[in-house]
Order: sequence, then C-alpha cells, then structure tokens
Amino acid sequence: MRLVLVGPPGAGKGTQAEQMAKRLEVPHISTGDLFRANLRDETELGREAKRYMDAGDLVPDEVTVGMVKDRLGDSDAQRGFILDGFPRNTAQAGSLGEILQEKGLELDAVVQFEVDDEVVVQRLLGRGRSDDNEDTIRNRQRVYREETAPLLDHYRSRLVTIDAVGEIDEITERVFSALRERGA
Ligand code: AMP
Repeated sequence: MRLVLVGPPGAGKGTQAEQMAKRLEVPHISTGDLFRANLRDETELGREAKRYMDAGDLVPDEVTVGMVKDRLGDSDAQRGFILDGFPRNTAQAGSLGEILQEKGLELDAVVQFEVDDEVVVQRLLGRGRSDDNEDTIRNRQRVYREETAPLLDHYRSRLVTIDAVGEIDEITERVFSALRERGA
C-alpha cells in the first residue's frame, strides 16, 4: 500500500501514520522526522533545514525532494510506504509523481485529516516541540492553507477525507474503513 497523509499541523498525522504503518507493515516516512534526525546528527542537510523549521516555513523543495527520493529508494520502501508531511506543495507532488512513475508505481490513496485550527493550536502548545510556539504554529497553519491545501484538488480522484477529532484508535478505524470502502 502506498499512501500519502495530508492535514494541518497537529491533526495527528504522525500518530495515525505510526498505527497504520504497523498494521500495513510498511515504513512510516515523515519528512519532519527525517529533518529532525538530520538536525540531531548535525548534518549539512540539518544545518540547511534549521532556519526554515524554526520559522515554520517549508524547507526548499530541492533539499526535501532529494531526501525523500533517497528514502523511497531504500529496500524497506519497496513494499509500500506511508508518507507523512510530504508532499507539502504542488511542486513536491509533481516530483513525487515523477519518482513513482520512474518505478512504474502509483499512490493507492491520499488521506486527508480534517481538524479545526483552534483545536490544533491547543494540542500543539501542549506537545512542547521546539517549533511548537504560538507564532510558529500560526505560520505553519498559514503555510498549510496557502501551499499544502491546494494539493487536495490535485489529488481529488484518490482523496479519502477523515474527521480527525476523536480517540486515536477510533480515527485509525475510520481511516481503514474509508480505505476499504474505496477499494484501496
Ligand atoms: P512536521 O514534523 O511535518 O510538522 O515538519 C516540521 C517542519 O519540517 C516543517 O515546519 C518544515 O519546516 C519542515 N518540513 C517537513 N516536511 C516538509 C516538506 N515536505 N517540505 C518542506 N519542509 C518540510
């Protein structure tokens, strides 16, 4: 199964991606986690990404796409994957399309997590990550609306929309039943 998860910051994509990856036995590929690992390891890529992450802006596409392309080339990703936080704009979606096309693959579905902005700000302020201060959160929400939300139209033929308010397991069940209904 090859899936992309889309939703505003704090919609619970990462948590759902974990659960789904376990059940589907495919890797959970989070670009945010990959960037944070690079920050921790003080790599060149991490140094490049830091100022964008601190501000809540998107890291430039060439850096991000290169990192994802490498990760999708790893052997564990050949069975499928759950992409969490990528693509985040239409250019990245185009690049993902090309990467998959080269391998003769397609996405099975794009799962959209819907949740109200205010619910999310409260959730994120409780999470305590270094880019979880209110200004950065508001900027990430703006970036989501302006750059990422247009993807939903790009992916409309394979979009599955989930109400992301509720208990974790309940939301996971919603996702799997919506995917089943779609035949994905
Ligand atoms: P996340 O953990 O998905 O909230 O991502 C944390 C930060 O990493 C974002 O605010 C961006 O600065 C950066 N980032 C993650 N994914 C991407 C992406 N696909 N494109 C550009 N920047 C990204």
